[in-house]
Amino acid sequence: MFSEVFRLSSDCIFCKIVAGEIPSKEVYEDEDVLAFEDLHPVAPTHVLVIPKRHIDSVSTATDADAGVLGKVQVAAAKIAADQGLKDFRVVTNNGRGAGQSVFHVHYHLLAGRRMNWPPG
Ligand code: AMP
Repeated sequence: MFSEVFRLSSDCIFCKIVAGEIPSKEVYEDEDVLAFEDLHPVAPTHVLVIPKRHIDSVSTATDADAGVLGKVQVAAAKIAADQGLKDFRVVTNNGRGAGQSVFHVHYHLLAGRRMNWPPG
């Protein structure tokens, strides 16, 4: 269902998760946002929080995306609260040089271990 409803991209792995074509361990869903467990967790809690509609990355977001990106961050906070997490990190990688490997914007919600700063 790569429809206009969410402006999904047929060659995007996260759009395929939104469309239900690739399985995921879902932890949160609302009208605009989906969150699921990362396939290769780097912390005891590692959830990816994404807008359902396709946006490549933070740097390609426009003013029209501001609302949904805000919802993604609020959803991350809700998930953390639901899981009883007080201390957590929400981070997004922008561009290959910064570690982005999937070009559908996503926020990593990380918790359950000590978070170092600066990140590597
Ligand atoms: P990034 O490298 O910041 O773009 O993050 C992409 C994340 O997506 C990585 O942490 C991957 O482990 C994760 N990932 C890739 N494919 C899947 C998938 N099918 N289900 C869940 N997580 C995935």
